[in-house]
Amino acid sequence: MLHNIRVVLVNTSHPGNIGGAARAMKNMGLSRLYLVDPEDFPSGEANARASGANDVLDAAIVVDTLEEALTGCSLVLGTSARDRRIPWPLLDPRECATTSLAQVEQGGEVALVFGREYAGLTNEELQRCHYHVHIPSDPAFGSLNLAAAVQVLVYEVRMAWLAAQNQPTKMNKVEATAMLNTQPVTVEELELYYEHLEQTLVEIGFLDPAKPRHLMSRLRRLYGRAGISKLEMNILRGILTETQKAARGESHPRTIPPIDNA
Ligand code: SAH
Repeated sequence: MLHNIRVVLVNTSHPGNIGGAARAMKNMGLSRLYLVDPEDFPSGEANARASGANDVLDAAIVVDTLEEALTGCSLVLGTSARDRRIPWPLLDPRECATTSLAQVEQGGEVALVFGREYAGLTNEELQRCHYHVHIPSDPAFGSLNLAAAVQVLVYEVRMAWLAAQNQPTKMNKVEATAMLNTQPVTVEELELYYEHLEQTLVEIGFLDPAKPRHLMSRLRRLYGRAGISKLEMNILRGILTETQKAARGESHPRTIPPIDNA
């Protein structure tokens, strides 16, 4: 189960922090590390700080963009040293862990995303996340070392996982079918949906591309909170397709029978 929770480090400058994060992960039973455009990797310093977790470093996947690091994920949690950088659903590390495990139990994959040592995550990166996670540190000195922040989150994941071990997980056939229907969408599917939605909103005249304001970011927040399943995504996409057809005059709307008031 823990295999489906990945740690993503964005644009890390100090290789020592990459090693420290790998060690923290292995200590807590996690193994999948993604590095988005690291400044210095592979590196002797990363290996030294990993002290024994070199297998996690060796298997680390280096990519150019955050988008690539999130491939296949259905839940993305972005960490922030400031508790309300942009208004977004906010979790503490404990809630982050239980939410992550619940997602994995439903067949999804989860990314815990960490930002740059000096600047954290950008607003655009934070908007790609379903939730934000803040470690409730002293606001007067709130920013943890990157590897220490990874440690806190993966420790909570392990605690939640250990607690789940004592609970029955056997599924009956009806539950298994229900799970298929509730299987969460991946971020790629969600991104395609946002594209389709934006296109449709422009076509029907609801969104003015010259004055988009915050509409798409507000809709992202709404849909991100909803925990959409694959089945529900098919419905939403179908609605958009039919809306586009209607706007282009291509559809043949069903005639609605008159209401019989008699
Ligand atoms: N100067 C940056 C601090 C970045 S610290 C800023 O103000 O945003 C580097 C990374 O460690 C952060 O991007 C985040 O991923 C993690 N981190 C540090 N302190 C944290 C905290 N209190 N809660 C959650 N994540 C934290």
